[in-house]
Amino acid sequence: MLDHVKVVLVGTSHSGNIGSAARAMKVMGLSQMVLVAPECEVDDQAIALAAGAADIAANATIVDTLEEAVADCGLVVGSSARSRTLEWPMLEPRECGELFAVEGEKYPVALVFGRERIGLTNEELQRCHYHVCIPANPEYSSLNLAMAVQTISYEVRVAHLNREKSRYPAQAENEYPRHKELEMFYQHLENVITDTQFISKDKPGMVMNKLRRLFTRARPEAQELNILRGILSSIEKNLCNK
Ligand code: SAH
Repeated sequence: MLDHVKVVLVGTSHSGNIGSAARAMKVMGLSQMVLVAPECEVDDQAIALAAGAADIAANATIVDTLEEAVADCGLVVGSSARSRTLEWPMLEPRECGELFAVEGEKYPVALVFGRERIGLTNEELQRCHYHVCIPANPEYSSLNLAMAVQTISYEVRVAHLNREKSRYPAQAENEYPRHKELEMFYQHLENVITDTQFISKDKPGMVMNKLRRLFTRARPEAQELNILRGILSSIEKNLCNK
């Protein structure tokens, strides 16, 4: 699914932003970068800022128009800091990630980002099915291009991972002991600490209640409970030998 996600940068003017965007993509597992009529080269600065993600910047597809960039995409979302004159269906970043995780399994999908100074034009925004806005400080809402790429890519990744997790439920995770086994453990513990005279049979006090609370809080797994039982047995054995 992640290979189906295109990150489309329109009219980027600072090559460093292309590099930083490549890095932002790669850490989230995205690899398809498309540059629409960039106003800079993928130069040394881009490569330097891409760090280990130089391959993504160097392999970016370069096209002349947004139309070409998204021609094969079944879903196109434009990222914009501002709401425009013409209202458009909006997505929260989280919803955007979820939509990408679902639709990106079926066909290529595109996230479109605008120019550093003026963002996306109205015409470009109207080529998109939805707009996504990162709910930033209303008095200072414009993120650096690569940081906007990072934020939305993160949501796409998280939504994708959640989908994978729900599809393949974790197997045999933490097996907890049954109530009966826990009761046997408490009984065993009480016997041993009575034998060692840590508590007295006649005046047991609150110790067992407090220990119960402690083990309830810790919620030992079945295997851990076996270890505790083993420790108690070893103490018993030692007491008998004395
Ligand atoms: N000054 C421009 C913003 C340019 S920032 C403007 O007002 O439109 C470069 C790009 O980063 C934007 O085109 C957009 O794609 C993305 N971006 C920046 N801040 C964003 C935000 N709060 N929500 C969504 N996208 C954002």
